[in-house]
Amino acid sequence: MSIIQASAETTFKGLPLSPGVAVARVCLFNERRHMSIPVGNVTDKEVRNEGDRFRKALALVREKLALLTKEVEERVGKAEAEIFSAQRMILEDPALIERVTDHIRSKNFNAEKAVISSLDFFEEQLSQLDNAYLKERSSDIGEVKRRMLDALANLNPSFQCQNDSFCQKGKNRIVIAEELTPSLTMELNTEFIRGFVTDRGGIASHAAILARSLKIPAVSGIPGIHDMIFCGTEVLVDGDTGEVVIWPNKKTLEQYPDLRREAVEEARPVDPIAGLKVLANLSLAKKVKEAVDHKAEGIGLYRTEFEFFAAGEILREKEQYALYLEVLRAMKDKPVYFRMLDLGGDKTADFLKPPKEQNPVLGFRGSRFLLGHPELFRDQARALARASKHGRVHVMYPMVIDLEQFRKLKKNFEEVTADVPQGEIKHGLMFEVPSACLDADEILKEADFGSIGTNDLIQYLFAVDRDNELVAYDHHPDRKVFWQLIHHVASAAKKHHKPLSICGELASNPVYARKLIMAGIHTVSVSAKAIPRLRIAIKNKPKLAKKRTSGLLGGKKKKSKG
Ligand code: PEP
Ligand code: MG
Repeated sequence: MSIIQASAETTFKGLPLSPGVAVARVCLFNERRHMSIPVGNVTDKEVRNEGDRFRKALALVREKLALLTKEVEERVGKAEAEIFSAQRMILEDPALIERVTDHIRSKNFNAEKAVISSLDFFEEQLSQLDNAYLKERSSDIGEVKRRMLDALANLNPSFQCQNDSFCQKGKNRIVIAEELTPSLTMELNTEFIRGFVTDRGGIASHAAILARSLKIPAVSGIPGIHDMIFCGTEVLVDGDTGEVVIWPNKKTLEQYPDLRREAVEEARPVDPIAGLKVLANLSLAKKVKEAVDHKAEGIGLYRTEFEFFAAGEILREKEQYALYLEVLRAMKDKPVYFRMLDLGGDKTADFLKPPKEQNPVLGFRGSRFLLGHPELFRDQARALARASKHGRVHVMYPMVIDLEQFRKLKKNFEEVTADVPQGEIKHGLMFEVPSACLDADEILKEADFGSIGTNDLIQYLFAVDRDNELVAYDHHPDRKVFWQLIHHVASAAKKHHKPLSICGELASNPVYARKLIMAGIHTVSVSAKAIPRLRIAIKNKPKLAKKRTSGLLGGKKKKSKG
């Protein structure tokens, strides 16, 4: 594949993930940046230079970590800042420094090779210890290694940034990536990002959800884009049509009068409306103000696992309690639906030491993961139980497959929190696996509430990967069988007088929200920024248009790709 020259406007058509239009220079986000670093031996003459490079990188990383510790301490808290001081301590360990310098001096390793081999040695030693705390510290070593290699290669931690004359380290840029996984998106300072273009990623992928909630235009499904452009290339991203224009010319730019993010600027808050309760989805406690500002009637889905990704490590009971308290206090008397850790599948990170699985989406994830990790379950359950004294806690179990599994989860929760002083806690589940939906009548007899997760429900019902842009044309709700299932769950909830909501992406689309109302579902949870638009649309037109009322189907059929 060759690089596209500045004189040649080139248009690609991908999958639109998040609406809006942006034009900006690009930053390449390279997840595999350490695969091409020079690792090898040097001549005797070069040994001194390698020693100098190592010391300089060491000083740089220490300085960066000191700054990070201070910043996190001020902005987040002392406990959180400890991750970075622990990393600094590793770098100050004389045994490490001695080993690296010795490998450079006596084995002629270049700095990269000496750093990798020495840190791997210590990581291996720690991981073999029979001490959970020290074992966990071995993941800090991995992080230290990454930072040292970045410093040695003079790379920004997240971007390739090889074009210095244009480089702004990601600021005001369109980010080009192979795929944005949930943990990687947490590494990016999204405040300054104008758009995303990715090789891979479906409409319901978590990166797409993030882009939409941040109102950042995004397009996926442009394979090889990484190799066709360099940092600083000007690109136009049209998140409505899926077009990505490389080096757009003046004529093209004139066709887009609203070329900035201002075009998709946040709407003003709108008061709650009759007929549809609108709650907010939340990923991080620190974003709860956004839900309050948009007058959310509660938090309908708090994706607690994202707190782990943001911290880059497993959070213990105390840290989780502080976050949950922050959310409950901000929401005052409004309900908060805490989804217990929905880990596994694509929602994983190195610090979780994921097992190798051939089919992770059907593997050790969701409630299976929770039941298989009693220590994680216990910490979270206790944090939630303690927090329940300060607000309306709803515990929502992810990916539940049947009544037996729900019972097990609830029983475990009650057992591990028996000695914790607590307030009233409601126990419910996500309906996102078809087997649970089909069994809704039995389940809702016992559960206190349910919330339908349409992103995964569509994935599992139609055997279509929500993260795969190649099959995205099949990940949509415009099928009779899907709405039959929704009606089935809704009538079970009605029969047992149990609250039911929808927290999947489709709820923010007024067309589908109207269909949900028709199905008897009057509560939805959407990203905070989508609340005003949804309320306005439903207030102005609460019913389905006449031609859409025949049968259960109402949405427009999407065109198939092939
Ligand atoms: C869903 O599956 O619809 C859902 C809301 O959960 P998540 O997108 O976090 O998997
Ligand atoms: Mg889900």
